Amino acid sequence: MSVAQPKENQYAGSLLLKQLVIAWLERRGVTLEDIARLVYEVQQKYIRNLTMAACRESVERVLEKREVQNAVFTGIAIDELAEKGQLAEPLATMLRNDDGLYGIDEVMALSIVNIYGSIGFTNFGYLDKVKPGIIGVVNSKKNEKVNTFLDDLVAAIAAAASSRLAHRDRDGLLK
Ligand SMILES: [Mg+2]
Repeated sequence: MSVAQPKENQYAGSLLLKQLVIAWLERRGVTLEDIARLVYEVQQKYIRNLTMAACRESVERVLEKREVQNAVFTGIAIDELAEKGQLAEPLATMLRNDDGLYGIDEVMALSIVNIYGSIGFTNFGYLDKVKPGIIGVVNSKKNEKVNTFLDDLVAAIAAAASSRLAHRDRDGLLK
């Protein structure tokens, strides 16, 4: 049986892909609002009068980048395959147990972290260590779900959106 192939370029538009990314994240229990709250937590100490609207907007801009979209699709697809028991060993067990020495989840997240400069790396380290908000929630569902890639993807998106705000603030682009 062959899998139905989408028509060429059916998914080519990055704005349509952004909507799909948001839908995939929501399917895994993460909303734009959840990620915007992480951005607010990271940046509120540094940007005077930072608003949640600015944080949300920054997350949306990050999700328009194709390399971000591709990382989200790939990571979530692997989490879901692992959850359904459709991956072969030894990968299946490593992903189910969120093996600390697996490491490819962090490597994939790094492709998102630096799109707005290396300050994203610091932000990611903080989010990965402290696990505030939705990152902690996603991480605590380890027993029922496989979220091995998801927690790093969410931290990376929030880190990139935070860096974007920091650069825009320095450039006087935030009102
Ligand atoms: Mg992980």
